[in-house]
Amino acid sequence: MTRPATAPPKPLRPAIASDLLVDGALIPGSGGTFDVINPATEEVIGQAAEATAADMDAAIAAARRAFDHTDWSRDHAFRAHCLRQLRDALLAHTDELRELTVAEVGCPSFLTHGPQLVGPITDLGYFADLAENHTWTVDLGEASPMGIKNRRELRSEAVGVVGAITPWNFPHQINFAKIGPALAAGCTVVLKPAPDTPWSAALVGKVIAEETDFPPGVINIVTSTDHGLGAQLSTDPRVDLVSFTGSTATGRAVMAAAAPTLKKVFLELGGKSAFIVLDDADLAAACNMAAFSVVTHAGQGCAITTRLLVPRENLAEAITLTKNAMAGLAADDPTKPGTICGPLISARQRERVEGYIQLARDEGGVIETGGGRPGAHDRGFFVEPTLISGLENSARVAQEEIFGPVLVILPHDGDQDAINIANDSPYGLSGAVWGTDPDRINAVVDGVRTGTMGVNGGIWYSADVPFGGVKQSGIGREMGMAGFSEYLDTKAVAVPVL
Ligand code: NAD
Repeated sequence: MTRPATAPPKPLRPAIASDLLVDGALIPGSGGTFDVINPATEEVIGQAAEATAADMDAAIAAARRAFDHTDWSRDHAFRAHCLRQLRDALLAHTDELRELTVAEVGCPSFLTHGPQLVGPITDLGYFADLAENHTWTVDLGEASPMGIKNRRELRSEAVGVVGAITPWNFPHQINFAKIGPALAAGCTVVLKPAPDTPWSAALVGKVIAEETDFPPGVINIVTSTDHGLGAQLSTDPRVDLVSFTGSTATGRAVMAAAAPTLKKVFLELGGKSAFIVLDDADLAAACNMAAFSVVTHAGQGCAITTRLLVPRENLAEAITLTKNAMAGLAADDPTKPGTICGPLISARQRERVEGYIQLARDEGGVIETGGGRPGAHDRGFFVEPTLISGLENSARVAQEEIFGPVLVILPHDGDQDAINIANDSPYGLSGAVWGTDPDRINAVVDGVRTGTMGVNGGIWYSADVPFGGVKQSGIGREMGMAGFSEYLDTKAVAVPVL
């Protein structure tokens, strides 16, 4: 029995507070509610359900039961159907979700046509295709270990119950990059979104409950201001895998908490990626792109390039070009179609970014442009796009993730020196190189230890491209076949041939 696909979309905005989704039911949180704040206006735009440890316990129990006692993990076609149904139902709500996402996340509206909304919803279709087309059983043929002939096969099986813990910066992208492949693989899920962006997850939960055929317990969504509920997912023995995106510090805590029960951990963490300009590059085009990249969504993207490495002889010209480009990308109201740089997510995050700008001054850096709050906005957590020069790569602002519209420009003395500076970082998430000579470009791509590289403005982001980091930027890959495989185990089966 499936629902009609053509029901008109009902409004998603909650009359009181958004609900939890636990065992197929939309329920209030046992802890009451908490405020959802628009970071561009500082206004309370509504409330979300405040879950307690008991609510999380019920969600984990439901996911465990749905995995252990239903056909979900074995019915590949049904899972593909549910994922496509969810994609189509959410797309019918695009206009309302766009408005609520910009209000809750503070992301520039233009990004909701891509990775902040429509992109990740559409990607559910890619994961549905994976569920349908995956080779679940591979025949290895016969072999005779110890003189006895056996026929062997490998079976792909879902890992089990997944605890998905996500941050606030690209909530839809990160939520769907976890629940999409996990559900496609046959896992059941408990999603705990960040306290700053509960609606992005909770409203998806409402659509799941009211407009799709997902069986109870298969997907549970638990919103809370209590980070301890994330820790609960990491420690609970009924959870088989924790899929975490967030800061490197929290990633370490998740890994340590998961160790006693030896659950699998999948970590997407921070970055301090380098944008390398070679001496044969179009310097103006490169500096424009570096400026655009770091101010997009106020720099709140883990893969954003935040260190600009330019040939030493071009440093002065590059500073002028970059600060002129940044001046044309002022922080502004995210609902305006032309805005690239919106607000930071919270007062706390703005304090952190301002603290780093002060640290740059204290370390002897020069604030070439920005460095303060934009005068045009007396409300909202805005910070001006900021360019810092005059420091070495060893400076804290060049080593630590700031997560704001802040770019550190550094000189390099040739291609190998640029590679060395790029790699002189605890992180290895992303990167960019600009140049003309393909051999030199390829040598840089090969030399930088990182998970992704864009060449001359190339954009790797797509459902079929695995994304993730090396070093302290994470473990594992999200999206693509590699991302799907994170949620699968392999079982080897042998039968004697008589
Ligand atoms: P955060 O680490 O503070 O929180 C992320 C999530 O973890 C939230 O849901 C939070 O409630 C939860 N959490 C907090 N403490 C926990 C604990 N002890 N155990 C389990 N869960 C816990 O990160 P944030 O401030 O929300 O997000 C910003 C960070 O995320 C940045 O460092 C950024 O680089 C990173 N990020 C990485 C990627 C990536 O794919 N590599 C993508 C986006 C963001």
